[in-house]
Amino acid sequence: MTDKRTRTNLVHGGTKRSQWNEVSEAIFLTQGFVYENAEQAEARFLETGPDEFIYARYGNPTVAMFEERMALLEGAEDGFACASGMAAVNGALTSLLRAGDHIVSAKALFGSCLYIVEEVLTRYGVEVTFVDGANLDEWRAAVRPDTKAVFFESMSNPTLEVIDIAGVAEIAHSVGAKVVVDNVFSTPVYSKAIEQGADVVVYSTTKHVDGQGRCLGGVILGTKEHIRGVVEPYMKHTGGSLSPFNAWVMLKGLETIALRVRAQTEGALAIAKATEGHEKLNRLIYPGLPSHAQYDLAQRQLGSGGTMLSLELKGGKEAAFRFLNAMQIAVISNNLGDAKSIVTHPATTTHQRLSVEQRAELGISDGLVRFSVGIEDPADLVADVLQALDAA
Ligand SMILES: *Cc1c(COP(=O)(O)O)cnc(C)c1O
Repeated sequence: MTDKRTRTNLVHGGTKRSQWNEVSEAIFLTQGFVYENAEQAEARFLETGPDEFIYARYGNPTVAMFEERMALLEGAEDGFACASGMAAVNGALTSLLRAGDHIVSAKALFGSCLYIVEEVLTRYGVEVTFVDGANLDEWRAAVRPDTKAVFFESMSNPTLEVIDIAGVAEIAHSVGAKVVVDNVFSTPVYSKAIEQGADVVVYSTTKHVDGQGRCLGGVILGTKEHIRGVVEPYMKHTGGSLSPFNAWVMLKGLETIALRVRAQTEGALAIAKATEGHEKLNRLIYPGLPSHAQYDLAQRQLGSGGTMLSLELKGGKEAAFRFLNAMQIAVISNNLGDAKSIVTHPATTTHQRLSVEQRAELGISDGLVRFSVGIEDPADLVADVLQALDAA
C-alpha cells in the first residue's frame, strides 16, 4: 500500500484479514499462539526462524496492523507500538543509550519526559546537556564527538515554540548523533519529521491518534534496522508493549485522524483570529498566525498552525481560573488532541512540579491557559471563548 496517499492509508493501511474476511479490523485479544507441533515451536523461537507471532509482548496481529498504519502515516520504514507515550519515550532513549554516552536535550519538555532525561538516564551514567531548543547556536555549542543522541519536542508545551527539526538534525548528524523527536504537538498528520532529518519519531497515541480520550498508547518509528535491531529487543523484554485492545482503538482512531485534526486546526485558527489583540489578553500564542515568532518555520515544517493554542490572560491566576470556570463547551482537563475541546491551567496542574524560576524561564505564567481545540463547530467555540474572556 506504500503507493497510496495518506488518507487512503489511514483507512486501509496495514489491514490483514482473517479467514472470515471481516470488514473492520479484528481484535486478536490473545497473548499467545498455538503451534502445530513441537518442531514448529522450536523453529519459531530461533533467531533466524520465520517472522511469526510468539507472544503478545513480542508482537500481535492487531498491534502489527497498528504499527504498519502508523509507519505509513509517518513515512517511516517500521514502528514498535508501546503501552503509553511514556513507554515510547523511555524505550526510544533507553534502547539507544548506555553509560558514558552524552545527549543534548531541549529543556522545554513534558514533565515525564524531563524526568526520564534528567533523573533516569543520568542515574545510569548518561550525561545530559540542556539547551534552549529554539536556539540553533545552543545546539551547535552543545554537541560533541561523543554525543549519541539529541532529544526534543518539536512544538513545546504549553508555549508552542517550534523547534527546527531540519536545523537540529544537521547539527546532530555532523557529530554522528541520532535525532529523537517527540512529535505529539505537531501531530502525525502534519509531521514530515523523518523527511526533515529525524531518525526516531515518538508519539503518545493517547493524544490525536485515539483522539477520543479512551486509551493510553504510544509508538516509536524509524528505520527497519533501528526498530527491529535496537528498539524491539529492548521493548519486548522490558514489558512496555501495547495491548491488542488498545491497538484496535488506535487503528479505528487512525481512520478519522486526518479529518479530526483538520477540523481541530480550523477551530484553532478561528479562535486565534477572533481573540488576537483582545483587551483581556497579554498575548495569544498560535503558530498559525503570522504574528507568531516562528510562523514561517511552522509553515515550512508542518504546513499548519496545529490544533493547540495558548492564551495569556491579564490578571494572573485569578483571571485564568475565572476564564476556565466560565467555559461552557471546553472541559477542564489535561489531555490534548481530543475531539472535545480541553482547557488546562499549566502553572497549577501539568507544570505545578516545576519551581517558580523554571516556570518563568519557560514562559509559563500564572495567567497562561492552554487550549486543545476539539472538533466542535468553530463558531460555537469562538462564542464560548469570547464570553469566557468577558467573564474573566
Ligand atoms: C502526553 C505526552 C507524553 C506522554 O504520553 P502518555 O501517553 O501520557 O504516556 C509525552 N510527550 C508529550 C509531548 C505528550 O504530550
